[in-house]
Amino acid sequence: MRCDFNHQSLLQAARYLQDGKLVSFPTETVYGLGADATNDRAVASIYNAKGRPSFNPLIAHVPTLEAAQSIGAFSDTALQLAKQFWPGPLTVVVPLRAPSSISRLVTAGLDTIALRVPAPEKVRALLSEADRPIAAPSANLSGRISPTMATHVEADLGNKIAMILDDGPCQSGVESTIIDCSTETLCILRHGPVTQEEIASLFPGISSNRISVTNDTAPSAPGQLTSHYAPTKAVRLEATDKKADEFMIGFGAYQGDLNLSPTADLIEAAANLFAYLHQADESEAKMIAIAPIPYSGLGAAINDRLARAAAEQPTPKAGDLS
Ligand code: AMP
Ligand code: MG
Repeated sequence: MRCDFNHQSLLQAARYLQDGKLVSFPTETVYGLGADATNDRAVASIYNAKGRPSFNPLIAHVPTLEAAQSIGAFSDTALQLAKQFWPGPLTVVVPLRAPSSISRLVTAGLDTIALRVPAPEKVRALLSEADRPIAAPSANLSGRISPTMATHVEADLGNKIAMILDDGPCQSGVESTIIDCSTETLCILRHGPVTQEEIASLFPGISSNRISVTNDTAPSAPGQLTSHYAPTKAVRLEATDKKADEFMIGFGAYQGDLNLSPTADLIEAAANLFAYLHQADESEAKMIAIAPIPYSGLGAAINDRLARAAAEQPTPKAGDLS
């Protein structure tokens, strides 16, 4: 349902978000597809609605710097950036505070989190009313362009989400700049409305080569953290049984040590995926086996992540497989 973004619809949207439903709202960049960032199933339903074939970490939107600091650990540099550019189109990646109530699907299993305080006052009021961080990628079907008008959202996702808050066209149409503040060197992961020059001018003492630029889909230097989480143990896919020394993650009829979804529900499986991978990685077992997951719907994104997890393993050392 598309409706004017007013006080009444804002209250209704906040209730929907608290109930784990999806709500689209206009930021200064593009229309976002929001869900409760602390609710695994709600976040999984973002992927389901968009038909996204892979799990990228999502940006969590909060109403204030204080709310951001309760979720992420801000270095002096990150704090300076936030104070200068928030509310506004800058997303900072900072270490996630532990313990955290943020769904692992939001960070795609990483121990860092992308945070942003959006500019429009109404959106911040919505975030305050919802009283929880809201994960929100752009509100378009995967592979389509980002929506700058509520009618674009309606065309792509109208029948899949609880509400579209219409406040006219977005100002910028360009997605937020993303800067990684979680390591020594500041790294721009995505160019956007806040420019590299504006960022550099904040830190006159820092030579500009301490601000690097990368394409976030590929690590820029060997050994640098990629934007994807992978378990440290070897992963065996399409496993229909559990071998000695394996922790098995099941699905449907394949029970395993933990079952992603005994009823073979792909949204439930996506919601549990990263938490279970972490548990498997932390277990006593030497290796991880994963039951077959269908490729339909959200299964595509789940299988994409699992295939990467299996491929990203270093070749086991001699003796490891004995
Ligand atoms: P979107 O939500 O579609 O605007 O995309 C969010 C972008 O933020 C993705 O390209 C992610 O790769 C990036 N991102 C979000 N969280 C992190 C993180 N913890 N570390 C690195 N990149 C991130
Ligand atoms: Mg997008």
